[in-house]
Amino acid sequence: MAEEKKIIRKKIQATDQMNKIMADYFYDLNEASTTGSRKVAWCTSVGPAELLRAMGFAVHFPENHAAMLGATRMSTDLIPEANAIGYSPDICSYLTADIGSYITGKTPLAMAFEGIKSVPRPDVLVYNTNQCRDVQDWFSWYSKELGVPSIGVTSPKNLTDVTDAHIDDVTRQIEALVPQLEEISGERLDMERLRETVALSRECTELWKQVLETATARPAPLTFFDGTIHMGPAVVLRGTRQAVDYYKVLLAELERRIEDGVGAVEDEAIRIYWEGMPVWGRLRQHSELFSNLRANVLASTYCSSWIFQAFDAKDPFRSMARAYLELFIVRSDEYKEKYIREMLEKFDIDGIIYHDAKTCPCNSNSRYGMPQRLEAETGIPSLVISGDLNDLRCVSDEQTKTNVEAFIEQIEEGE
Ligand code: SF4
Repeated sequence: MAEEKKIIRKKIQATDQMNKIMADYFYDLNEASTTGSRKVAWCTSVGPAELLRAMGFAVHFPENHAAMLGATRMSTDLIPEANAIGYSPDICSYLTADIGSYITGKTPLAMAFEGIKSVPRPDVLVYNTNQCRDVQDWFSWYSKELGVPSIGVTSPKNLTDVTDAHIDDVTRQIEALVPQLEEISGERLDMERLRETVALSRECTELWKQVLETATARPAPLTFFDGTIHMGPAVVLRGTRQAVDYYKVLLAELERRIEDGVGAVEDEAIRIYWEGMPVWGRLRQHSELFSNLRANVLASTYCSSWIFQAFDAKDPFRSMARAYLELFIVRSDEYKEKYIREMLEKFDIDGIIYHDAKTCPCNSNSRYGMPQRLEAETGIPSLVISGDLNDLRCVSDEQTKTNVEAFIEQIEEGE
């Protein structure tokens, strides 16, 4: 049996600064919504946030709110509310938790931030189906409920190569959003402001990439579980100076750790790659489970999905289209397997965890033979854990613990 003992996990000092800029972001959104000082757009996680921000919208990301519902473990009680109005327990539990939150009026924002009573009311909903169809269905429900337009991009999927034809298609679709957004915002699009926003998103991406790549060091100075928290600014504040400034601070702290030989997990012995969504309501438990076995889950597809190297201020629309298409979740298994093979090598990985999330097939890559193919090619063992991002009724803690312990032991014996 892999030996389990309490291992110290190092806290990241920059966390307080991150909490402050996230709080400022939520208060800013609340102010826009309650005073009408700015129009509010809701946007899917890799929707055209750069365009919305450049057009002066305050931007809310329902997936970020849904992840908060998961992390606070409010989601499991809220999901049945959406099930009761016809949204199946088998579909995206971000969608069902978020709609359940709206129906009941319960939000972690009101609990965490004094003075905030609800999520900001939207003036427009803007989606991109590059990740899944659920986001369009999700926004469609709010569109009817709140009487606001839902517009967006219908993306090509399962791409091995991102071609000019794909980029042309999505570029045209993003450009076509502009007249309606101008009408809602009451402002003409300022191309210079769009270029600046895209440049800031690019800078944010570069820094976030460097943050994640600090984990190539041995011992790694951060964990996947840290990454899921510290990616907050990259998700909700990309295209802003605040996100760029924050990642400079975080990167400096992690580089100091490397210089000092300090790992996020004391005595790191095993290096693990996480493929799939986090289980938001089990972040701490999973972090402890691995670190107590001296295993560091130090790299992931999920956190790396907020690296968009295509952004180019010289060609904002086309580069946005390319960035939104080059996303891992948009790609074919052939591309995904090549990507993961490179990640395994770069981070010197000993084993892979695939999270098979019951309600998110698009982020569950263990269902069509990928673990077996990658294991045959690389010799790196893998374990599939069944669970979910937000619906804890799909999570078996005992089974996860037993399987992870046996998996780490198998890796130790193979070394
Ligand atoms: S990718 Fe998965 S978690 Fe994200 S919105 Fe779609 S179904 Fe939900």
